Amino acid sequence: MRWAGQRIDAEMAGALPGLQSIAGLVRSVTTPEFRGVTFHEVLARSALNSVPGGGLPFGWTVNPYRGCSHACRYCFARPTHTYLELDQGLDFDRQIVVKTNVAEVLRRELARPSWAREQVALGTNTDPYQRAEGRYQLMPGIIAALAGSGTPFSILTKGTLLRRDLEQLSAVDVPVGIAVSLALGDDELRRRLEPGVPSVRGRLELIRAVRAAGLPCGVMVAPILPWLTDSADQLDQLLGELAAAGATGVTPLVLHLRPGVREWFMAWLAADHPELVARYESLYAHGAYAAPSFRKAFEQKVRPLLTKHGFARPAYHRAVVREKQAPPAQEALF
Ligand code: SF4
Repeated sequence: MRWAGQRIDAEMAGALPGLQSIAGLVRSVTTPEFRGVTFHEVLARSALNSVPGGGLPFGWTVNPYRGCSHACRYCFARPTHTYLELDQGLDFDRQIVVKTNVAEVLRRELARPSWAREQVALGTNTDPYQRAEGRYQLMPGIIAALAGSGTPFSILTKGTLLRRDLEQLSAVDVPVGIAVSLALGDDELRRRLEPGVPSVRGRLELIRAVRAAGLPCGVMVAPILPWLTDSADQLDQLLGELAAAGATGVTPLVLHLRPGVREWFMAWLAADHPELVARYESLYAHGAYAAPSFRKAFEQKVRPLLTKHGFARPAYHRAVVREKQAPPAQEALF
């Protein structure tokens, strides 16, 4: 890591008061390469997080970072930053917690006799291939730890930095699933709504690279934005591009807005599309999910397009977690 030569016992003057109370904080770092971003390096006590409920295809997650410089306005992980006494708006984008020892801690946890090698998911909270990963390089150690212990795992990302680790991923001897998130086919909209996310073209190239490495690549087409990205023409074009790139499955999901995230997203909408504010308020009047009638109409619209582009086999929610030796035909996750 580029900063390995720096002392790790020197906390930067000006570190946020709230963070200084967090167990494990070693130091806070800024660098000209990441203007406006502060990295708070911590020594984590644990790496594996249990997922309660059992309704998902994975029982555990690993999150090397908290906060995400991809800065998506709709990010559902934003409220988790308030646990750090940081805000869920700009602090989430610019105050990034880095678990510098995550691979080492993970290795220890995976070596326990009680570890049952259940599925582990990366990228379900914050993005493990956000820009900071280029500096901290935590993912190769995490991948090695999981693969070395015989633990199947999946990675979901918007970060083209994943390409760096494709050789390692294609060589592991455990089931591995890769999924790329790509829902906005319009780069101008992406710049306004996901300002830190790599370009559409860059992520289409990433999908191609994942497939060329012999790995499956699902795509989360999420969030679909009502009246902004949900027309039949827009969906048709995006699904066509994903099919051409070799995506092995897609999951289209309409935007949901939890409390906390809703305010941050709606402030953006009011600034960029004030004409839609009243419609969104009505659509999300009863909770985090769009009104059932809207979701049903969307499903009816997208289903024939999924069929057209070869993504129409029955829903299979584990499709992003698949044996790399047997990439499937294109398959829908809808
Ligand atoms: S890339 Fe994912 S984790 Fe990062 S801000 Fe966007 S939605 Fe949130």
